[in-house]
Amino acid sequence: LGRHKDDRRPTWFDYNGVRFGQDTLHVFAGLCAVNTREHVEAMMKALQSHGQVCTRMGAYKPRTSPYSFQGHGKACLPYVFELAGKYGIKVVAMEITHEDHVDEIVEALEQTGNPTGVILQIGTRNTQNFELLKSVGRQKRFPVLLKRGFGITLEESLNAAEYLASEGNRNVVFALRGMKTNMGDPHRNLVDFAHVPVVKRLTRMPVCIDPSHSVGTRDMAPDGMLDVMHVTAQGVIAGANMILVDFHPDPASALVDGPQALTLDELPWYLDDVQIAREAY
Ligand code: PEP
Repeated sequence: LGRHKDDRRPTWFDYNGVRFGQDTLHVFAGLCAVNTREHVEAMMKALQSHGQVCTRMGAYKPRTSPYSFQGHGKACLPYVFELAGKYGIKVVAMEITHEDHVDEIVEALEQTGNPTGVILQIGTRNTQNFELLKSVGRQKRFPVLLKRGFGITLEESLNAAEYLASEGNRNVVFALRGMKTNMGDPHRNLVDFAHVPVVKRLTRMPVCIDPSHSVGTRDMAPDGMLDVMHVTAQGVIAGANMILVDFHPDPASALVDGPQALTLDELPWYLDDVQIAREAY
């Protein structure tokens, strides 16, 4: 993915009608965690009405506490993929935490028969789960979205991406999602989107930003703009190719990370601001 200097492979790849990398930018707005079929449908309907073909949907949730909601897992996959087909979603970003989840996703996709694609997300808690990386690297059906580890060096996270490539899967997007510090930051994580051009310089991976998990709040600047939007603009201006961002039809009833979710009313406003930032890039 870039660690070999004589490697001339491209900095982009195509998957299910969507180009990742090069000069493209895709917004993956969606549910941090799937809770009800109705919420999935409301989300996808809103995306379609605003011309979006990608989304994020969390089925398997790696939680810090074992007592927190762990996601509906494979039980929600049939309706997630059925609705993705209904609303013209081409690619769903979905985190997996175990290699068996890949088989469950394949099975559900085959059952629904929709042409929906999936990009397998490996979260920050699993960035250095080398056995998971190796097994996901061995399958080539799905591309992979690898999150930066929140407490390791950039170099270590980039080496984690190499585990995927070294097993054969080079369709990897690298996601920046903020870093943990012990300095009492106002945001959940210290936003690291200044590293978008650095990752592009060091590797050939398309780069994703996750403003929601970086900021972790709906706090607003004195200008009335949400911090989530401010940092999105920073990442887009820095050259991001993909944005993973939490929305929810009813954040108060969200089972995971409701306080950082944007509402469906805010979707057109968010997409317009992304476009403005994109023009500034
Ligand atoms: C997520 O995107 O749902 C998530 C849990 O992100 P992270 O792995 O960055 O915490």
